[in-house]
Amino acid sequence: PSPTLRSPDQWCRSFSHFISQCLIKDFEARPSVTHLLEHPFIKQAHGKDVALQQQLAVLIQEQQELGCKTRTKHDRINTRKTLIIERCPDDDLVNLEFLDEEKIISHLQRRYGELQVYTYVGDILIALNPFQNLSIYSPQFSKLYHGVKRADNPPHIFATADAAYQSMVTFCKDQCIIISGESGAGKTESAHLIVQHLTFLGKANNRTLREKILQVNPLVEAFGNACTAINDNSSRFGKYLEMKFTPTGAVIGAKISEYLLEKSRVIKQATGEKNFHIFYYIYAGLYHQDKLKTYRLPDKTPPRYIDSQHCKVVQDIVSSKLYKEQFDAIQECFRNIGFTEEEVISVYRILSAILNTGNIEFASITSQHQTDKSEVPNPEALENAASLLSIGPEELQEALTSQCVVTRGETIIRTNTVDKATDVRDAMSKALYGRLFSWIVNRINSLLQPDMNICAAESGMNVGILDIFGFENFTKNSFEQLCINIANEQIQFYFNQHIFALEQMEYQSEGVDASLVEYEDNRPILDMFLQKPMGLLSLLDEESRFPKATEQTLVDKFEDNLRCKYFWIPKRVELCFGIQHYAGKVMYNVNGFLEKNRDTLPADIVVVLRTSENKLLQQLFSSPLTKTGNLATSRARVTAASRSLPPQLGSGRNKSPKYLLKVDTMEMMRHPGETTSMRRQTVASYFRFSLMDLLSKMVVGKPHFVRCIKPNDDRQALRFCEERVMVQLRYTGILETVSIRRQGYSHRILFEEFVNRYYYLAFRAHKMPETSKENAVAILKRAKLEGWVLGTTKVFLRYYHVEQLNLLLREVI
Ligand code: ADP
Ligand code: MG
Repeated sequence: PSPTLRSPDQWCRSFSHFISQCLIKDFEARPSVTHLLEHPFIKQAHGKDVALQQQLAVLIQEQQELGCKTRTKHDRINTRKTLIIERCPDDDLVNLEFLDEEKIISHLQRRYGELQVYTYVGDILIALNPFQNLSIYSPQFSKLYHGVKRADNPPHIFATADAAYQSMVTFCKDQCIIISGESGAGKTESAHLIVQHLTFLGKANNRTLREKILQVNPLVEAFGNACTAINDNSSRFGKYLEMKFTPTGAVIGAKISEYLLEKSRVIKQATGEKNFHIFYYIYAGLYHQDKLKTYRLPDKTPPRYIDSQHCKVVQDIVSSKLYKEQFDAIQECFRNIGFTEEEVISVYRILSAILNTGNIEFASITSQHQTDKSEVPNPEALENAASLLSIGPEELQEALTSQCVVTRGETIIRTNTVDKATDVRDAMSKALYGRLFSWIVNRINSLLQPDMNICAAESGMNVGILDIFGFENFTKNSFEQLCINIANEQIQFYFNQHIFALEQMEYQSEGVDASLVEYEDNRPILDMFLQKPMGLLSLLDEESRFPKATEQTLVDKFEDNLRCKYFWIPKRVELCFGIQHYAGKVMYNVNGFLEKNRDTLPADIVVVLRTSENKLLQQLFSSPLTKTGNLATSRARVTAASRSLPPQLGSGRNKSPKYLLKVDTMEMMRHPGETTSMRRQTVASYFRFSLMDLLSKMVVGKPHFVRCIKPNDDRQALRFCEERVMVQLRYTGILETVSIRRQGYSHRILFEEFVNRYYYLAFRAHKMPETSKENAVAILKRAKLEGWVLGTTKVFLRYYHVEQLNLLLREVI
């Protein structure tokens, strides 16, 4: 480091950069670190700075192993090989000698204590939530994890992003990174870090594009995340972000898909929880701009929708520095991504209108003729809402307090009871918010669409990042938790397919003898939910169609039809049912299930909102907003995906032995697939469709898995609760994953492809040998690899073999 840097901080930063550079370059050029360690600044920093610690550890270890003597090229290759195989074996659970649960846990615990939050299981990354900021995500680290072999650096989320990126560029294939874990385990943070690293790798030189992409997540999350009992920034929707690249790997755009926003949060939150972040942000932001009046937001008592124990008076919200800062950040995001001033104002108006709508009250008027009519005793809330929505207050009141019914060609106006009017009001708020959210997502997509002049859409490739709401189990669980948990079942199923079923099936068809690993198959639970016509969701839909159905009839229906060990009705608890999920038992309360599933928005409301003079609002209600693309394209994608799989996987129903899942991509899609009718769509049927759409995107790409683990429930740094970790390791099947990765061959390459790629290692460079099995063997022997096996058409390699081969290749060339 330059001697002109005087402060320890500056010095360390510069030193850290220096080391990163060294690590990237050839190891012979690296400095001897022993004397550097004596430096007082380093000594001082060593205990505190995790980034520096990690870097130094890598450097020291390599130097110790290399010694200081100069060596021949051949020695160098050998040393390097040893390094790859033996370096830091505890980075990867697959390398450990022991394989019992307790040892694995104490191993993770020790690493966590040393702030090594990442650990590999072969090619899968385990990420323990550190619950504190680590300094291992700086640009230096991005450089460190750039196109190098994985074993060169300690495990890191950047390494996973890099692996996906390299795989995309090398094989010209779409990739998808699947992040799973329970609520608060760190999925969303991991997704951010992956996007950050991918923008770096994708050479987003164009600063504007880079900033735009980096601002997508914060913007969408302001609208889709909220503070819950377990996570202050909990995602209340599922998100699939696709980053688009040119064939050479330059990032050119992004696209986001949203799944199942928890709209009910807009109108009601559980005790101790809050509404979506954006409501608080705009309150604080508009207050500081002195615009509460313009947006007709009350300045003393907070609107009912955001009124809670935390904020009894408006001052509680507007005095929050954080909210104000977030508001400024969101404004900045809107502007950078390219929303117009007019659009942003419309968004704020709609949000304020929702808050005012929540304040509209109803009282019953009893007259001689009618007893069930309601009126609005506080017209100012109604007028505020109407004015912000640019519609007439009378029309709005009409739509809330009465409904048009057409019977036998005659139109009758029926009045609404107070309860009914309240439901209509809340349904309107939910619809406004849900459609606004989808509009924002669609608008972002059109603004971040790749420029067709740079790259034709079809020649581009993408890396998708899946960050869904994690598994939830509260004291009281409702319809929302059920949907969230079914989605998690589906992701777990997908994981099992890839890690266990597909792999074992391929061994069989290639005649490779690999012992089978038993694993927990959650297919029967998924069937119980998604099967037609007797699955739980179908039963719910059926019951939702009966106007006379009640929560009790629903529970009875479930009880009569769902006969399996994963479902039970508890005794002595009213209106509840229990489910044995892959991740644990959850008790659901059916209160509100039917209404939440119907999610009806009266036509009268739609008609009124369409008369709005606000362009955005007209757009939101002009046509049924298709949220996640259309079914036809999803189907086409699924079919294409199943075609690209090896034939025995594409349609191997009968061939698959009974201990394997029936692996068939269409089969995988079967559950959510049948929804074709868009007529009066229920949430459950839309949910099926979304799941199918999501899976259809995922099956096209090569998957990479990140398993987030929550070390404790108190969000405390450095606290490792063995019990909690053990449960998570168990249900995510980590132990089984370790054993299958240890025995398994994660790379399977056709002889032809193998010889084409590696013949340099054993044959003369100018003479391409025949691409036969024998020549493949010759190459493997020459490379001195051990532990590979041959199938009938493919070489089966362990996950580290390819790295070794690529390294040797680089040395030879
Ligand atoms: P999830 O999306 O799985 O529900 P989040 O990603 O929102 O969980 O993480 C919950 C909280 O944990 C974050 O708000 C943050 O405080 C902390 N956290 C998670 N990952 C990290 C990380 N890599 N570094 C620092 N803090 C983290
Ligand atoms: Mg999240």
